[in-house]
Amino acid sequence: MEGPPLAARIRAEVAGEVRELGALGLVTLQVGEDPASTIYLSRKHEAAQEAGIVSEDRKLPEDISEEELLELISALNAADAVDGILVQLPLPPQLDEARVIRAIDPLKDVDGLHPFNAGQLYLGRPTLVPATPLGIMALLADHRVPLEGAEAVVIGRSDIVGKPIAHLLLQSNATVTICHSRTDDLARHTLEADVLVVAVGSPEVVTPDMVKQGSAVVDVGINRTEGGIVGDVAPDAADVAAFITPVPGGVGPMTIAMLLRNTVKAARYRRGLLAFPRG
Ligand code: NAD
Repeated sequence: MEGPPLAARIRAEVAGEVRELGALGLVTLQVGEDPASTIYLSRKHEAAQEAGIVSEDRKLPEDISEEELLELISALNAADAVDGILVQLPLPPQLDEARVIRAIDPLKDVDGLHPFNAGQLYLGRPTLVPATPLGIMALLADHRVPLEGAEAVVIGRSDIVGKPIAHLLLQSNATVTICHSRTDDLARHTLEADVLVVAVGSPEVVTPDMVKQGSAVVDVGINRTEGGIVGDVAPDAADVAAFITPVPGGVGPMTIAMLLRNTVKAARYRRGLLAFPRG
């Protein structure tokens, strides 16, 4: 399941929607200078600009106070030209991540992490949903991977990937198991998986002997090794699975495309073209 062709189609659709809607704005906030985050953000901005979205990459000092950051978010919440706000995580220790995320207007929360949006997903009424899980669902749909009644196993329980993808799979009527760092005997679960989503951040968490024959495997991991970037799944798992996402070139490009789609959705909410279920 290659990411780039589908991501390109979605980005082209987004570009068309941006032309219809008029000027759209996306602002990202990066505190400090983590090199990997800088690369991800630059790709997001390149894609946004290509789709006609006015995007701004704000770099903030590592030692910014929480008060300053909250003030900036409040100004962006009020700015009419801004449709989407994304705070790059993780944040340095002086900043309370949960508090910072709560400060973002849920209508502009294109990362889908605000408790309102996370709660809507939990309730089965998704509003703004994190981009990576949306990208995974789009890849599975594009390859017509059956989800209804399927055994789906998610490894990882983060707020940005593991939990939201588990909810989306559940809403597609899969039977979902969430595994994590304390799961006893991972293979016992993964061998039952018709759909296996791996979001851990450690190479070879899943080896071919852990993969069910003919299954669909989604490798979310991005790990920098001496040999280059690798995922969480050993590449020869491809010999067992019917579908597998490569790393790089799988989920990563989809994440970017879905962030742009979320920005368009946020713009529609704010312009009253879509009803946002608040108040
Ligand atoms: P995280 O560190 O927040 O969560 C990792 C999860 O893995 C945790 O829930 C933990 O319980 C689980 N885990 C850790 N070790 C484990 C083990 N040995 N066995 C089973 N479970 C284990 O990470 P995250 O933000 O969810 O990201 C996961 C990976 O996905 C990272 O490599 C990250 O870089 C990558 N990622 C990629 C994209 C993309 O667009 N391709 C987007 C987001 C994250």
